[in-house]
Order: sequence, then structure tokens, then C-alpha cells
Amino acid sequence: MVGHLHQAGMAVIPEAEQADVVIVNTCSFIDSSKEESISHILEVHQNKGMKKRRKEQKLIVAGCMSQRFSKDLSTSLHDEVDAFIGLDQVTKVAPIIEGLYAKERGKKVAPANFIEGKSTYIPDYDTPRFRLTPKHFAYIKIAEGCNHPCTFCIIPQIRGRHRSRTIDSVVKEARQLVSEGVRELNLISQDTTFFGMDTWEQRPNPRTPVDSSRGSALTTLLRELNAIEGDFWIRLLYTHPAHWSDELIQTIAECPKVARYIDIPLQHISDRMLEKMQRETSGGYIRDLLKRIRAGIPGIALRTTFIVGFPGETEADVAELCAFIKETKFERLGVFRYSQEEGTRGAKMPDQIPAKVKEARWHTTMGLQRQIAAAVSRGYVGKTLKVLVEEPGVARGEADAPDIDGRVYVPRDVPVGEFVEVKINGYHDYDLLALPKGEKPAEFKVAKQAQ
Ligand code: SF4
Repeated sequence: MVGHLHQAGMAVIPEAEQADVVIVNTCSFIDSSKEESISHILEVHQNKGMKKRRKEQKLIVAGCMSQRFSKDLSTSLHDEVDAFIGLDQVTKVAPIIEGLYAKERGKKVAPANFIEGKSTYIPDYDTPRFRLTPKHFAYIKIAEGCNHPCTFCIIPQIRGRHRSRTIDSVVKEARQLVSEGVRELNLISQDTTFFGMDTWEQRPNPRTPVDSSRGSALTTLLRELNAIEGDFWIRLLYTHPAHWSDELIQTIAECPKVARYIDIPLQHISDRMLEKMQRETSGGYIRDLLKRIRAGIPGIALRTTFIVGFPGETEADVAELCAFIKETKFERLGVFRYSQEEGTRGAKMPDQIPAKVKEARWHTTMGLQRQIAAAVSRGYVGKTLKVLVEEPGVARGEADAPDIDGRVYVPRDVPVGEFVEVKINGYHDYDLLALPKGEKPAEFKVAKQAQ
């Protein structure tokens, strides 16, 4: 969206008060994100009323919430919002703004129900891009949408069916980013392991493993990215466990630029819960897969997420999950309290769990992980690590994704945006220290998992 604004000659400025147009980019994944989005829209509008902003300033609402609730929002926020932009309208953002100015009297550019159906948009190599991340790392969206039926999740209804970019398109973008000095490419999508499989001649089912003999696949993409010249990491985020294969494990092992870090959301381990969640996996499958990943990719750091408090979850399910966390010792782990989302099948299920119980289960599981994380951090002491320096005094290792995992505190004079090798001499929960004796960390920001 920002790339399209730039291409149309519009400047993006950090001071919202002085802008001609404010775009609130919303999320509607769970209730709390919807509430945050609405409260921000109202705040922008109120500031305008209190003359903290210019009266003629336009307010546009974009993103998932706009896509999902366009009809309701255009009625309830009729006086506050000048236009709503759906997910497929990101390329039209500049003409929509121009249209608002052309119709100065505040008339909506598009009819209230213009965002119909599921999204089908996917960016490509030549989509104008303006990176909002620091110079040294970037996200590359390799696919969009999801074909899985998880009963707690609204994403497929908002983002539509899975569609992949071509390998050529992703590689071109990656090559460009590396030539601009990017040191870490984070591959993202809703279902990264399914990359390319939507283009196969024979339709894959939700459990089909990655297999490059059947068509475009993540393994081929990784090998091509790995062949790009330069010193950089390739990080895989959001890999659905159902599509993992031995071919993928072997590919990662053979591609040194692919970070020894895997984000593999498991959501639960109890067969009852996996079945209710329709995760297309079972406890036995997951245990076997993790064993194969650990054996096939030495030094791999596993990151996962679990949901506690899904309808019908019993104390026995939680006990099984705790035992699994203890036995697997995930290097990185986050736990979510189940959120009853309107429009999902999970929301209509009987035996919803009270908030207090969810909270207690969250504390139990995260408390357990805190101890494991401390032991994992302790294991790094005395080792030398290659880290990427994020800001003066703060870096990240290969086992730390941006904005999600821990940090490595380094001397302030190491160059920002570059790889350096440091010796770990201490730790603090999720974070590592590589500082000369007596030097204090730049600042202790609490790692996301602990929040
Ligand atoms: S795989 Fe992920 S995005 Fe797709 S339905 Fe399940 S939780 Fe949602």
C-alpha cells in the first residue's frame, strides 16, 4: 500500500496530525485486535473534532477488519470514516484518495458493500514496495490465503484460498533485497509449507507433504534462494506441520543460508483437541515429525505456539500438553488463550472454557516454558554465536525471529545491520548477554513470549 502511494507521488509522514489523509490499517484476527482497531479509528476521529488535527483531514480504514466487516462498519462508522479499502484494493489506494479529493463534500468513493467475497490478491515482484522494516531485514510474502479448516480460525474467510507466487517472482525480489544490503529474508504466508502446491496438476489434500516431483514446492524455492550470492539468513515462518516431509528436512539441512530455526505452529498435542481443532495432525504424527526434524537438522531451534482453553479442553488434555512441553523442550514457545471468534465453528461448540480457567492454563504452560527457556539460554553460555545487530547494543541470533523471540545484548559499538560473532557470557530469561565484564545491557525489553 505504501509502495503504491509512493509510486503515485504521495509522501508518507510520521506525524499523523499533519497528514492530509490518515490510513488506519486494521486487523480482525481476534476480538482484541478488532477492539484496538476500532478504538484507534475513533481516536483519530476525536482528535480531528478536538482540533488536534486538520478539519479537512481524510480518514481511510484498510486491512482485514475493513475486508471482513465492510457492510457493518460503513453503517456504524459512516460519519467518522471517508472510505474503506479491502484487501484486494491495496493497489487502488492512490486513486481512492484522489477520488476523495475529487468529491470534496465527503461522499464515499465506493458503495458501502464494495468489498464482496474472499480476497484473491497476491503481490508480485513488480508490485511497488516501500519497506517499513530496518535496512538489514525484510519480510517476503511468498503466498497468501489458506485452505485449512482449523475450527478456531477466521483467516481463510478473510484472506481466501491459498495462492502462491511463482518461484521466479520470489527469487527476483530476494535477489533485489540482498543487493540492497538485506541480511535476513523472512519468508511468510499463512501456510508456508504449502507454497506452490496450489498450482499442482493433481490437487493436493490438506495433509499432502512437500514434494518437488509433483510441481512447484518450498524445497525448490529454498534451494534457489540459498544459491543467491551473499551472506544472509533465510528464515521460515508459519510452517504448517501437516505438509512437512523428509525432502523438506533434507533441503534445510543442505542449505546453509536457511536459518537453523523453524516456526511450526502445533496448537495442541492431545488427539482429542487436534481433532476438535481440525488441525489435520495427530499427537503421534507430531512427535514423530519433531524427532525427524531434530535428527535431520542438527542444531535446529524449534519455535511453536499452542492454544489453551479451546472448547472441551479437559485437565487431562492440559496435563498431556504440559508433559509434551517438558519432554520436547522447545527452544521458543508461545501460548495463546483461546479466543471465541464470531464466524468460526469453534465459537459455536459446546463446553466453552471460562476465562479464569484459560488464564490459569496459560500461566501453567508459560510458567513451564519459562524454566525451559532459562535452561536453553544457560546452554548458550560460553558459546560463540553469529548475531545480526539490530540497534546499538542489541542483536539477534539465528534462533531469534524479529519481534517475536529473544535478544542478544552486545557492546554498543558493534555496527548496526551487520553480522558479528560474539561470545555469550550470561543470560536473562529469554535473552543472552555478550558484554564485557561490568557493562550493562542497552535496555531490557521483555521478550514477547513472556507477555
Ligand atoms: S492453517 Fe493457520 S491460517 Fe490456516 S486455518 Fe489453520 S490457523 Fe488459520
